Amino acid sequence: MIRRTKIVATLGPASRDAKVLVRMIEAGVDVVRINFSHGVREEHIRSVELTRALAKEAGTTVGILADLQGPKIRIGKFENNKIKLEVGDKFILDADCELGNQERVGLDYKELLNDVETGATLMLDDGRIVLGVSLVRGKQIHCVVEQGGYLSNNKGINRKGGGLGAPALTSKDMEDIRTAAEFGADYLAVSFPRSGNDIRQARELMQEAGGNSLLMAKIERSEAIKALDEIMEASDAIMVARGDLAVEVGDAAVPALQKRMIRTARINNKLVVTATQMMESMITNPIPTRAEVSDVANAVLDGTDAVMLSAESAAGNYPVESVEAMARVCLEAEKEYLVHTDRRMPSNHPSTIEEAIARATMYTASGLQISAIAALTQSGDTALLMSRRSSRVPIFALSPHKGTRSKVTLFRGVYPVEFGKGLNDPEVILGLAEDELLRRGAVRNGDIMVMTIGEPVGKTGGTNTMKIIKVGDFKRREHAGSS
Ligand code: PGA
Ligand code: MN
Repeated sequence: MIRRTKIVATLGPASRDAKVLVRMIEAGVDVVRINFSHGVREEHIRSVELTRALAKEAGTTVGILADLQGPKIRIGKFENNKIKLEVGDKFILDADCELGNQERVGLDYKELLNDVETGATLMLDDGRIVLGVSLVRGKQIHCVVEQGGYLSNNKGINRKGGGLGAPALTSKDMEDIRTAAEFGADYLAVSFPRSGNDIRQARELMQEAGGNSLLMAKIERSEAIKALDEIMEASDAIMVARGDLAVEVGDAAVPALQKRMIRTARINNKLVVTATQMMESMITNPIPTRAEVSDVANAVLDGTDAVMLSAESAAGNYPVESVEAMARVCLEAEKEYLVHTDRRMPSNHPSTIEEAIARATMYTASGLQISAIAALTQSGDTALLMSRRSSRVPIFALSPHKGTRSKVTLFRGVYPVEFGKGLNDPEVILGLAEDELLRRGAVRNGDIMVMTIGEPVGKTGGTNTMKIIKVGDFKRREHAGSS
């Protein structure tokens, strides 16, 4: 069995080393996340080049996800790097403060003053510290500590229930979009979007910069939950960004939202990544907790395209082991009957010829004993539409385009295969495609497989043919014909 759920691993100091990264790729990383919240441009470009070179050596394709920092609202720095707050302490967020101390700390987002009022609740450091706002005066937000602990430099601030006005794209993000276009990111993740407009703006900037990344909306604000349909419509993919989302909507609301988001994404033919703290304890331990194993398995059962590693692979002590553990858990969860059976009869009709072919293929695959699907695709869209239906049949996306092969790395149950450059006779193509899957051991003589292709060959969005093939028959016919 081949693992269907994909693994996204964030790169960082723990994984930028070639020796480590190559082992992570061998352990099953499908997509690498470049996190623009840390590091500098040159470093990111180097990471992308290294990833691609190592993937090539390993004979595989690894996709690139560029993740923008977004308007992460942060406190400033402290004189002594960190302080300890006790419940009941008074503490001031002060827009004019340069270096913080036990009484006050500065703000990088001065407009916070306009976004809060007496009675608001601010969550610092992913909710570890909770401050109740008692008074807003001049450039100062006076607070009382409701949950204490250590607070160190540049920790993030969220407002419980949402309502921070910061726009999704900062000037740094706009610059980073150009960098992402330059290194040819397959996916561009927008942090803290509030509406479809935020995504459309990012897409425009990406196109202006000459890139063609697919757009991923990170759902991590309470406003984004309300605008989910609209954001989804504007995006190609979403991320269930549980870290910030939990702070805004309350941690207990996240599991049900995760299920809703994954279901909605799949129904709308969008991709979905489940992220944050999936293997958190593996930052310091070589094995995951039972709860983490369950969490990853549940995301697989929910139907996510990919599960993501953040600090585990970026800054943890066990980046390779984290990937191995995820791969093992996904593979096991995928054996469950419910996971690969399509229970949802789509109530809507296919809206394009391509979608009709994709659905017919999956319907066929769920009935006949099909070993593999070969989707000959220019853009990868046919493979995407197929992968929105639950199935246990591997979908091989055969494409002459590097960009397409690199994008499908994120699609659940879809595997990129380099194929078809310069070919345009469908008969020849289908024969060679069969050979290719035979060579890979994906099918054996006598197996049944399905192929889809667009005729005439080469046009994007032109998939109009589905063929059910008994492997080997084609060749036998050919031999019979030539003798
Ligand atoms: P981040 O996004 O890791 O960039 O904060 C993911 C999340 O908030 O869960
Ligand atoms: Mn986040």
